[in-house]
Amino acid sequence: MRVVVLGGGFGGLELTARLSAEFGDAVDIVLIDQHDAFVFGFSKLDVMFGRTEPPWVRHRYDEIAKPGVRFVQATVRSIDPAARRVETDAGPFEGDVLVVGLGADLDIAATPGLAEAGHEFYTVDGAFSARDVLAGFEGGDVLIGVLSTPYKCPPAPSETALLLHDQLVRRGLRGRSTISLVVDFPRPIPPSPEASDVLLAAFEERGIAWHPRREVCALDPARGVATLRDGAEMPFDLFLGVPVHRAPAVVVESGLTENGWIPVDPLTLETAFPGVYAVGDVAAVGTPRAGTFAEGHAAVVADRLAARIRGDEPSAEYAGRGVCYIEFGDDRIATVDITFFGDRRTGELRGPSAEYVAHKAEFGSSRIRRWFDREWTAT
Ligand SMILES: Cc1cc2nc3c(=O)[nH]c(=O)nc-3n(C[C@H](O)[C@H](O)[C@H](O)COP(=O)(O)OP(=O)(O)OC[C@H]3O[C@@H](n4cnc5c(N)ncnc54)[C@H](O)[C@@H]3O)c2cc1C
Repeated sequence: MRVVVLGGGFGGLELTARLSAEFGDAVDIVLIDQHDAFVFGFSKLDVMFGRTEPPWVRHRYDEIAKPGVRFVQATVRSIDPAARRVETDAGPFEGDVLVVGLGADLDIAATPGLAEAGHEFYTVDGAFSARDVLAGFEGGDVLIGVLSTPYKCPPAPSETALLLHDQLVRRGLRGRSTISLVVDFPRPIPPSPEASDVLLAAFEERGIAWHPRREVCALDPARGVATLRDGAEMPFDLFLGVPVHRAPAVVVESGLTENGWIPVDPLTLETAFPGVYAVGDVAAVGTPRAGTFAEGHAAVVADRLAARIRGDEPSAEYAGRGVCYIEFGDDRIATVDITFFGDRRTGELRGPSAEYVAHKAEFGSSRIRRWFDREWTAT
């Protein structure tokens, strides 16, 4: 069986590792990504807050030496889901199975003024350069704004506010700074009232202003003011934004999307096209956009493909579960065990405590061990 995997993110890497571990050379996997290296989302925050260096968090795809796997660095230019064929900079590829794991693109230009007056911290380049911006910041009004929903890693803006608080305290700048967080959610972690309450208490304790159900739609570089959808204005000295998320243009042009994302069978991750699956942020599964869920999608697809290869009836089904880590600053981390399954949405909180710092570190280390066959610790 030839499996063409588009995107070497959480979804693509998990799928590739699982199939190679079970079948080795007996399966032919082509993994295609436009970049030369994988970077965890949480490593963006680690770099931004000076906890590690950029080269340390880049995991080069050409280090993948798994039986049956060929990595191709190329941009996917078109996808023909009916033929399970793609055109790329490195030529065409066709598979018995096509797995689309191209993630969400970040559209900075969609928010007027963001590129001129603000800083985004969701792309690798944006987060790495935000590090210098934060290091040079001399205090003032900081506005953290999520510019569209859904967006990946719902806790990340809250973590950013808390880590920024710590950084400003350390630098003696907190007294002359404000931190405001604007998110179009009713509470910080919608499926977990418990985690949301703990976050809201942490914001209150630290004087972080929380503005729910509101969205910044434009920045005015001349006046240093953000305009919200309800017409209100908020002044800022430093704007840190989560850009508008969209499915990559090549996915939209392929005809695979509906309402902006790829609809899939939520139990099997298969699209309307036989043999074509979508995993991770690009798929409309009903779960939040996060690596932990992308990995869960990929595990189900891998199990179903494995059954097919063995000649069995596929039985694995997705159950909508993922475990997210939330940095509270001050070397304390919480976990939220989230399940999104049909109408059932739960989020069980553990922590925050120092104990989960080691759990989160092992989460990163174990993925790099599994995907790249080497040892690594996040910071
Ligand atoms: C600041 C931050 C913190 C985060 N923290 C966490 C966390 O603690 N835990 C967690 O679970 N999640 C976290 N996330 C979310 C997580 O990073 C994403 O949800 C996850 O990476 C999604 O996986 P994916 O495989 O769907 O897509 P991605 O990991 O985004 O991978 C998609 C890949 O497709 C490639 N690609 C796209 N278009 C093309 C093309 N045309 N041609 C070729 N290649 C292409 C991209 O280069 C990319 O490598 C965080 C995200 C951010 C930004």
